[in-house]
Amino acid sequence: MIRYIDVKKVYPGNIVALSNISFQIDEGEFTFIIGPSGAGKSTLIRLLVRQELPSNGTIFFEDVEVPTIPNKLLSIYRQKLGIVFQDLKLIPTKTVLENIEFALEIAGKSEKEVSETTQYLMDVVNLKGRSHLFPHELSGGERQKVAIARALANDPKLVVADEPTGNLDTDTSFEILEILKAINNWGTTVIVITHDPTLTSNLKTRTITLKEGKILKDEGKKEKSKSAHNSLFAQIERPVRKKLRMHGIDSLEELLSQSEDSLEKVGLTDHQLKMLNEKIQNYLIAHK
Ligand code: ADP
Repeated sequence: MIRYIDVKKVYPGNIVALSNISFQIDEGEFTFIIGPSGAGKSTLIRLLVRQELPSNGTIFFEDVEVPTIPNKLLSIYRQKLGIVFQDLKLIPTKTVLENIEFALEIAGKSEKEVSETTQYLMDVVNLKGRSHLFPHELSGGERQKVAIARALANDPKLVVADEPTGNLDTDTSFEILEILKAINNWGTTVIVITHDPTLTSNLKTRTITLKEGKILKDEGKKEKSKSAHNSLFAQIERPVRKKLRMHGIDSLEELLSQSEDSLEKVGLTDHQLKMLNEKIQNYLIAHK
């Protein structure tokens, strides 16, 4: 899904932020990028979102070569990415609800979709009961959750969180990580940038370690066959998966335990329902 090929980034003043960076992230992976301050983590992300261009080498997102995307298509490209920036970029004069609604409005959703999806996203990040508070009335963890909910507005294939646990206590940090893991379990690829080794040490998760602009280690990459996106649930088309999740069906087990009647209530088109039932039948036959 993402490929960095021999990427180098030199900032003005001959500051080498990254050099010889090559790695690949598959769809459905959960990856930590870890390293001390100044290691080049944010630069790596700025290159992916095309806020910066590499001095050398190139980057692919799916089959798109990121440095060559014409400027006028950049906004369409960026809509595929859900980025949670370090400074969160919440709108201080809007409530939690309005911040999330605003992201959905910009994404061009209908009024009905905006209201349904906002409620659903608040639920995903456990922010129910906080909807009418302003960002300055929230705890650091709650602000982070609003930023994550907002990043999910376009149902992106990739979510990148830059230091999502930066100033949070341990319990809150792990709560945020659990939310990101749940998002990954739906089949969404997740990258978490952190300088904090305690966050990654107990988890058997792919971890790319950067130091002084180079990859020091790349550990824990799972075999493709074991990654989440090979499960039946992750193979379902994204719009269908989203509707299922909004009805509380967010895993293969949940899906298989539904009766045909309850699946009909999800509001899929006839074609979507037919395709889904076929996928389930094929899965059941293959796993008899
Ligand atoms: P990290 O996110 O790991 O802290 P960064 O990617 O922010 O690292 O920075 C990597 C290096 O590039 C640092 O030496 C930093 O000072 C330098 N750097 C980052 N942004 C710029 C910039 N816009 N201009 C010049 N140097 C920069």
